[in-house]
Amino acid sequence: MTTGRFGKYGGQFVPEIVMPVLTELQAAYEKYKDDEDFKAEVRGYLERYAGRPTMLYYAKRLTEHYGGAKIFLKREDLLHTGAHKITNALGQAVLAKRMGKKRVIAETGAGQHGVATATAAALFGMECHVFMGTTDIERQKLNVFRMKLLGAQVIPVSSGTGTLKDATSEAIRYWAAHIEDTHYIIGSAVGPHPYPTIVRDFQSCIGNEIRAQAKKETGGRIDYLLACVGGGSNSIGTFYEFRDDKAVKKIGIEAGGRGEAEGDNAKTLSGTGKPGVLHGAYSYVLQDGDGQIVEAYSLSAGLDYPGVGPEHSYFKDAGIVEYVSVTDTEALDAFRRLSEIEGIIPALESAHALAYLEKLMPKTKKDEVVVLCLSGRGDKDVQMVAKALGEEL
Ligand SMILES: *Cc1c(COP(=O)(O)O)cnc(C)c1O
Repeated sequence: MTTGRFGKYGGQFVPEIVMPVLTELQAAYEKYKDDEDFKAEVRGYLERYAGRPTMLYYAKRLTEHYGGAKIFLKREDLLHTGAHKITNALGQAVLAKRMGKKRVIAETGAGQHGVATATAAALFGMECHVFMGTTDIERQKLNVFRMKLLGAQVIPVSSGTGTLKDATSEAIRYWAAHIEDTHYIIGSAVGPHPYPTIVRDFQSCIGNEIRAQAKKETGGRIDYLLACVGGGSNSIGTFYEFRDDKAVKKIGIEAGGRGEAEGDNAKTLSGTGKPGVLHGAYSYVLQDGDGQIVEAYSLSAGLDYPGVGPEHSYFKDAGIVEYVSVTDTEALDAFRRLSEIEGIIPALESAHALAYLEKLMPKTKKDEVVVLCLSGRGDKDVQMVAKALGEEL
């Protein structure tokens, strides 16, 4: 049995009523995770439905632009539904099916995880409810309509700031009341054990594929691995395979938002976050002097979460990964830069990782290799970006 602890982080800080279903989920996951038939089924959907493995693309023009290390992009943006989240949603949906659940629920911020879950539910003929904050519903109208087209019910959550944190709390409440026939598909490497482990395991194919693809592209050499960090799933998926590889410098990029003030950013690990409990796990959390959760802010709806997956908290304390941040403005610049230089419109979340190249690349040498996880594509953000740039559509 896995313990669900990453150093002192993780655990199960949940109401008593949720414990039986976590225990059931843990037992099911332990049973299936090394089961060849289960793994083959998940792999089958990933390869023939979602589009794995994703390409490791040599960004030649971006490399020339900086004149330093070679830059490779791990193209998670090319997956079905446009981001890395489908990998976890399909994996958990197959698990839910094996557990005999008829309904899946999910929380969503940017809407990407909601779309991924609604997609998996449609594929397996399962009922699907997606909890979404009202602020996010406003910011991500296209994704809301996509979920409806996919047959999901989108449930607006107006408590708090109407963002991801509030949607997550509401999804947990609903789950506790419908535990017999419902599986809760958490969309990031957060929440009570066993979720951070399950999500990491499903997403770690990102790093496994990078390892195999880099053998061909660079003879295996990787000096820097970059990924943006919201809850921490695309980043943990990228870093996990390389966790013991000291020669590979791993950098997680958080949202610096519009400034340093409380409530103006989502710098859980790179800013003022302190260990505390949020959504069932002990991890770094943005909180005020009284331990109240501080609302996170980012222009990007997928990064404005005041917590982070517990394994990242451990990685930070152990010095395994370095956590930094870039601002909204820097991310917007990077969004335009990649679009113009490579013809790839990145998700605003991924644009945060891209923005960090401005700081990193001048320090790199030509024979070095940077691999950046391009977690998603930017179609969903075009409206938001137009507004931020003051353009009328
Ligand atoms: C949701 C999302 C993120 C942030 O979530 P993580 O769990 O930190 O990966 C990053 N990029 C994209 C494209 C997303 O949709």
